[in-house]
Amino acid sequence: MSQLSFFQFPYLSDNYGVLIHDAESGDTACVDAGDADAALTALAEHGWTLTHLFITHHHADHTGGLEALKAATGCHVIGPAPESVPIAGLDQRVNDGDELQFAGHTVQVMHTPGHTLDMINYYLPEQGVLFAGDTLFTLGCGKLFEGTADVMWNSLNTLMALPPETVVYCSHEYTLENGAFAIQVDPNNQNLIDRLRNAEALREKNQPTVPSTIAEELLTNPFFRAADPAIRQHLNMITASDLDVFTELRKRRG
Ligand code: ZN
Ligand code: FE
Repeated sequence: MSQLSFFQFPYLSDNYGVLIHDAESGDTACVDAGDADAALTALAEHGWTLTHLFITHHHADHTGGLEALKAATGCHVIGPAPESVPIAGLDQRVNDGDELQFAGHTVQVMHTPGHTLDMINYYLPEQGVLFAGDTLFTLGCGKLFEGTADVMWNSLNTLMALPPETVVYCSHEYTLENGAFAIQVDPNNQNLIDRLRNAEALREKNQPTVPSTIAEELLTNPFFRAADPAIRQHLNMITASDLDVFTELRKRRG
């Protein structure tokens, strides 16, 4: 089976899109479509032609360029079947447990509501790559715009259960902002201290801190660490449920 290449590009103020390219067929997918020009520029840089668009959720920074990209390329647009605010221009709606083929590669669909009710994540098990949308961020998780804390906690748990080496592409560069909160609630976590130092160095050079891995997030992301004794101690919630600890963390993060 031919290899896929991944190319991440920034757009708007702090978003990331990703192109997925199959060299053998020439098929190229883009994850999310907040800015058609940014995606078309990234495609032109590589000489790739867009064939598929994978949409994670309805927010404008993920869909604002959808119709322009579709008009420019004729790409096949895949997006969430679960609806909150309807997304115009979808050719195919997918839901939790669906399995797609992209140029002969398996793409598993995960519904991870919480940030929005329509949030879909795309997981490529053969490559070990997850597109987490605005569900899981580097050192953070999405704000609860539509779902409740228990819905988000359930979604995060399904992501936590992925193989630790899974590479996680999230949709925003939020590591430093998230890290400033993480270090408050988990100040003695050496993995977190080291990760923050690396992230600061990368951002100083204007380089991305995305992607990360599930393993890194398990070691350092407070929203993956509701069971951690030091965080519980810090919150004075030693005997609380993991959900209650997560809920408190999400509340404090604002
Ligand atoms: Zn969003
Ligand atoms: Fe977003």
